[in-house]
Amino acid sequence: MAEKDSQLMEKIVALCKRRGFVFPSSEIYGGFAAVYDLGPYGVELANALKREWWKYMVQMREDIVGLDSAIFMHPKIWEASGHVGGFSDPLAECKACHTRVRADHLLEEIGVVADEKMSETEINALFDEHRQNIVCPKCGKKDFGTVKKFNLLVQSNLGNFTGDTSVEPVYLRGETCQGIYVNYKNVLDSTRVRVPFGIAQVGKAFRNEITARQFIFRTREFEQMEMQYFTHPDNEMTEYEKLRAYRWQFYLDLGMKEENLRWHKHENLVFYAKEAYDIEYQFPFGFKELEGIHARGDYDLTQHSKFSGVALEYLDPQTNEKYVPHIIESSVGVGRMLLAFLTEAYVEEAMENGEMRTVLKLPKKLAPVKIAVFPLMKNKPELVAKAQEVFQALKSEWLCEFDDNGNVGKRYRRQDEIGTPYCVTVDFDTIGAGDPSPDGAEAGDAPLTGTVTVRDRDTMQQERVPIVELKQYFQEKL
Ligand SMILES: [Zn+2]
Repeated sequence: MAEKDSQLMEKIVALCKRRGFVFPSSEIYGGFAAVYDLGPYGVELANALKREWWKYMVQMREDIVGLDSAIFMHPKIWEASGHVGGFSDPLAECKACHTRVRADHLLEEIGVVADEKMSETEINALFDEHRQNIVCPKCGKKDFGTVKKFNLLVQSNLGNFTGDTSVEPVYLRGETCQGIYVNYKNVLDSTRVRVPFGIAQVGKAFRNEITARQFIFRTREFEQMEMQYFTHPDNEMTEYEKLRAYRWQFYLDLGMKEENLRWHKHENLVFYAKEAYDIEYQFPFGFKELEGIHARGDYDLTQHSKFSGVALEYLDPQTNEKYVPHIIESSVGVGRMLLAFLTEAYVEEAMENGEMRTVLKLPKKLAPVKIAVFPLMKNKPELVAKAQEVFQALKSEWLCEFDDNGNVGKRYRRQDEIGTPYCVTVDFDTIGAGDPSPDGAEAGDAPLTGTVTVRDRDTMQQERVPIVELKQYFQEKL
């Protein structure tokens, strides 16, 4: 990876737009701040990441089950969780140009450690202490007002048909895990799981982020992959260590270099938390949080029990012990993971002819397109027909792309940039002499005769493979 490339972020953003991974939302209307759309290859990559996560967190685990809870929930849930009262960011507004910036980010930029969890008084004291050094990123003046806490929950008018402002607002969920907590009892009562067990969920969440920065790293609408694990209080920390190791291994198994990952331990814990670590990834803008792994104690179930009036204790069927399970969680955003894997995969390298190529060296199981099929030339109908036959034969097994645009070199460049592991080219040798088919059939008559070249994305080596063996060849490779 080009760690020292100061342009890397711009290059990734440009590639995402150029090749259809990520588009700014509502672009023809001038854009919509802090929201992004996934393009044709972005959605494939995101789906592959979610598939791998689900495989790791549900399929491979007998003690974890899945869930898909709704985005809208009873408003009391957000009171119980503490989001209505305390889910806020410190907001500072420049008096000169009215730019709003997160006060903790402003402090961070001048090397002062701040925390979004600080109270309004605490952060104002710290802000005042350094006020003379805090510069507005927009206009350059040093004239910020008082820091105010700004709630991140996004309100809606769901079910409120009269515009009555006295009705308790309904929120778009600020995190997916609340849907897990409130279904804990349903899952226990309807499945065979027993403590310790986990519930995993992938879904959208919404936060009124003040400043969304760094592309898809922080967005107002985003998708989370969360797993909440319910344990006996005595085992919370043992299970926590196991979960940390398991999640770390996830990234290594998907080919991330360990040097690009590190642990960050939270120093300022919320009052109920036992321990909190983040897995940080070395993004183009430095090491930042990729995934949070936290030991939350019995806070979540206790709060929901208190606010709902429903007992959420667990009765151990063996020991008859009754207790409120403690929760450890793993939480990661799809967009953030996507950006991390794009960063990891992005390579610029010189080819033998001296030209540079950009290639996404994504693990094969993450690559949006697995195989691209080309006719060597577009204006030779017999090549195009044969290439179509090959394409039709492969597409039921893998996501394939047929491409007859431009010359082969241009097509390779395109497939390299979207990370396609293999390109199959149908050329004159495929349809002409040297046809290895035993019955000597005419070109085009029998679809499974002839050979094609298969080019490997990473080595750029080409080899000839008989069409009859192509499926088996890719079954072994992919
Ligand atoms: Zn300003």
